[in-house]
Amino acid sequence: MSTRAAQFQATVRRREPLTDHLVRLVLDGLDGFESSGVPDEWVGLVVPGQFQSRYYTVRSFDRGELTLDVVVHDVGLVTEWAMRDCIGDVVTISEPKSSFAPPPGAGWLLLVGDLTAMPAIARIAETRPDLTTYVLAEVPDDLAGYLPDHVDVTWLSPPSAGQSGLAAVVEALDWPEGEGYFWMAGESAQMRAIRKHLMRVVGLPTSHYDVMGYWRATTGRQPRAVDPGPVWRAGKAAGKSDEQIWADYDAAREASDG
Ligand SMILES: Cc1cc2nc3c(=O)[nH]c(=O)nc-3n(C[C@H](O)[C@H](O)[C@H](O)COP(=O)(O)OP(=O)(O)OC[C@H]3O[C@@H](n4cnc5c(N)ncnc54)[C@H](O)[C@@H]3O)c2cc1C
Repeated sequence: MSTRAAQFQATVRRREPLTDHLVRLVLDGLDGFESSGVPDEWVGLVVPGQFQSRYYTVRSFDRGELTLDVVVHDVGLVTEWAMRDCIGDVVTISEPKSSFAPPPGAGWLLLVGDLTAMPAIARIAETRPDLTTYVLAEVPDDLAGYLPDHVDVTWLSPPSAGQSGLAAVVEALDWPEGEGYFWMAGESAQMRAIRKHLMRVVGLPTSHYDVMGYWRATTGRQPRAVDPGPVWRAGKAAGKSDEQIWADYDAAREASDG
């Protein structure tokens, strides 16, 4: 089985700051690119002069235009590129992968995340207006209007810059009644804590949740990138659940860091 994902060249056509920490980039080109249609799908992005990928949710793919909403934080390979005028730059995009898969009987969605998760949460909510949707959003900026009107959203402030308190928030949750689906993404240590909580305390079956480490808070040196694509494909080929695959991804990133 090949572990190489298809790649596409794309050109940045528009750059629109949405808030202080979120920049919208609209790309075209991408000959042969096809969306999976799954609303949390992500692509790898390699920016000019770099060879390492970073991963971004497909906020939309419409009439050949790919929209990515990129968080700009203190320092980072893509952050520093996206802060500048990058219009006209040619980037490399990998084929999309996805994870969101609510069980057929789900009557509600509970979506939790930090700013990096907002593009996926917005697209999931837009795609599934049929489900009662609760969102817990830990964001440093005013994102009014970013999520569709039908969602029941609780806005939370991060405890401090580069920190997240989402695990404690989820541990204190009153869960909606009946069958539903829990989707969460953000800083990896928080996600590891939540996986344990869901398994040991809430007792949710793994088919009823997806918990994804989108980035790792590190002090000092930069993390080496670990591509979720090959981990994902190998996990799927081995018949693993989404949860097992994301736990493998966290473990691979820990190994690459140490
Ligand atoms: C499946 C998937 C989908 C994702 N979708 C999105 C998306 O739609 N939009 C988006 O912005 N991000 C998204 N991310 C997260 C994004 O890939 C990471 O935040 C990535 O590390 C950003 O790259 P960078 O080059 O800016 O920083 P890096 O060069 O990777 O990191 C530099 C430093 O910044 C720190 N850092 C990294 N990310 C953050 C952050 N968000 N806040 C504070 N500090 C940080 C690191 O700990 C490191 O010390 C997604 C990740 C995955 C796995």
